[in-house]
Amino acid sequence: MKKQKGIKFLCDLCGELLEEGRPRFICRGEIFCAFDGLEIEEDLERSSESVRAEIERLIRELEKRTEEDLRDEVHFPFRLDLCRKCRDRIYRALKPGGELEIKN
Ligand SMILES: [Zn+2]
Repeated sequence: MKKQKGIKFLCDLCGELLEEGRPRFICRGEIFCAFDGLEIEEDLERSSESVRAEIERLIRELEKRTEEDLRDEVHFPFRLDLCRKCRDRIYRALKPGGELEIKN
């Protein structure tokens, strides 16, 4: 949320000025990782070297990512100030049977 001179806001999606006294919409939510348990298949054929190689590969993958990215993958809460037009776009995308299409 960006605030200017204490009386105005900017839409967090399109940047439109939201003047005090006009409708402003707040979108709050969170994206978090759901974990339903780990399934480990018994693989008696697998050598300790191949297990070690797999662990080392995973560690290298994790080292490429930032702490912030890893944290946000687990839990990412957010809050947006929106103009009416962006509120309507998000509503149409998220409602059941909606047109969910998040563009870059
Ligand atoms: Zn907007």
